[in-house]
Amino acid sequence: MSGRVVVVTGGSRGLGADLVRSFLHSGDRVATCSRSTSTYLNELRADPATADRFFHDVADIADRGSAEAFVAAVYRRWGRVDVLVNNAGVARDGVLGLAAAADIDAVIDLNLKGTLHVTRAAVRRMLTVGRGRIVNVSSVVGIAGYQGLSVYSATKAGLDGMTRSLARELGPRGITVNSVAPGYLTTEMSHGLTPAQLEQIRRRTPLGRLGAPGDVSATVQFLTSEHAAFITGHVLVVDGGLTA
Ligand code: NAP
Repeated sequence: MSGRVVVVTGGSRGLGADLVRSFLHSGDRVATCSRSTSTYLNELRADPATADRFFHDVADIADRGSAEAFVAAVYRRWGRVDVLVNNAGVARDGVLGLAAAADIDAVIDLNLKGTLHVTRAAVRRMLTVGRGRIVNVSSVVGIAGYQGLSVYSATKAGLDGMTRSLARELGPRGITVNSVAPGYLTTEMSHGLTPAQLEQIRRRTPLGRLGAPGDVSATVQFLTSEHAAFITGHVLVVDGGLTA
């Protein structure tokens, strides 16, 4: 079977679902995970065009054992991990002074610790063949300040730090590591925004709209392609100019 083996975390909906679709469309084999399943995942499993190139595992990345078991299951199935896209993430809005300790843990456990555990497990496989591509989905919120998002922001800035350090660590071993930092996207994560907030974001965005998942997937495709062979340790902002 040809095509790369691509691992996308959090592929049941939103950006992750679009990434899964995009890599399947490129002819790759795609493994994804989420805590629950979705109609979309069931369709991919049932579609003869994708069924044998698609694998979904019910896994909670915030749990180290579950994260490692997911990567091990992909490896058992296809014997390689060529591309890892760390997409699964969660945001909890609210000022820090009023935040529940459990919410702080939930965001850090998934966005930072979960991502590190999945990456560690995948890197061990990539190192044996001396090549690989890793893309971390961070956020403009890790670059500029946004009120009410300090915990989320700490995790996304942390991911960008991880991108830079890991790029140095793994570059000599043939593995590139980059971040994509989206602005606001039209996914479930931004459904909590009020019409007034959405209008404000549109007004402040030079390109006049929120991002679509496809805007980010195209960038991830680029970063994992041969065209980006000499790019590593970079944070590529995809925000329509919001933070320009
Ligand atoms: P979303 O619609 O909420 O989807 C999140 C995906 O991650 C779902 O498939 C979800 O499935 C999975 N997931 C959540 N918790 C998980 C866990 N503990 N273990 C495994 N999978 C888990 O989010 P999105 O908007 O597509 O965001 C995707 C990424 O883009 C995130 O890293 C986010 O921070 C980043 N981002 C989003 C925006 C935006 O405006 N939406 C902007 C910038 C960056 P289950 O719930 O079934 O587990």
